[in-house]
Amino acid sequence: MELIRIPRIMQDTAGGHFLHGRSIGLVPTMGALHEGHLSLVRRSKGENDITAVSIFVNPLQFAPSEDLNKYPRDIDGDTEKLRRENVDILFMPDAHLIYPEGFSTHVEAEGISEKLCGAFRPGHFRGVATIVAKLFNIVKPARAYFGQKDFQQAVIIKKMAKDLDMAIDVVICPTIRENDGLAMSSRNLYLNKDERKAATVINKCLTQTTELIKSGIIDIESIRRFMKEKLSEEPLITEIQYASIYSPQTLDELEKAGKGALLAIALKIGKTRLIDNMIVNP
Ligand code: AMP
Repeated sequence: MELIRIPRIMQDTAGGHFLHGRSIGLVPTMGALHEGHLSLVRRSKGENDITAVSIFVNPLQFAPSEDLNKYPRDIDGDTEKLRRENVDILFMPDAHLIYPEGFSTHVEAEGISEKLCGAFRPGHFRGVATIVAKLFNIVKPARAYFGQKDFQQAVIIKKMAKDLDMAIDVVICPTIRENDGLAMSSRNLYLNKDERKAATVINKCLTQTTELIKSGIIDIESIRRFMKEKLSEEPLITEIQYASIYSPQTLDELEKAGKGALLAIALKIGKTRLIDNMIVNP
């Protein structure tokens, strides 16, 4: 595995692969890698000649009040995991090379960035779209891999690629879960034992709401009430930011749930913010 830390060198390396007709698959991450990340890596390995993984904790997508400085980091563990997966390139740039002094250009998918998580994390998706646009320009992938776990992020990146004519196939991969259903996330490391147990309520709520919809209860009022009641049973939840049913395209709340609708939840357990979602397939 080649470790590249300098954007210019990454760009030249990618250019070389392009000249030789080799396709690159890119898996952008913030590190603290788990099986969710590795599932994207494996998908990329199966579909491309070269797989590049980026690890970059992007300061632009964290608000001053958020967890940038305490975001979990495990460079040695991550490197070992990626080596075992036979990843070709690990791109791990320093922040000052990505955002040199005077950097002032941003990308924003207006209309969808402000909804759901965007309403609670102003500027977050502007930071995400900007770093992903930069990574696309630096790594020049034919395909880039994102998890359904961060559904809104994936929708925004797809839209950005389409709106800005980026000839990159944005592939969305299924959410990988722990045995008890909790969606894998680097932030799960913040949870203490009781909070970790409490977090299983999220997947239970999504699964049971899917069952409710399948049984024919599809109006938004009933669904919202059911989800709220279910989540309220867990005393360690300190804040429910959203829990409802949405259009997977516009991310607007739906009046009635149908096939393909997006059930999505964002909440805090203690101080830890967790998100998860499920697509309804009756
Ligand atoms: P992160 O390191 O949290 O920025 O995530 C990097 C990529 O991995 C994003 O595309 C995430 O959606 C994806 N990802 C994170 N958790 C999971 C999971 N449990 N299953 C599948 N993909 C995931």
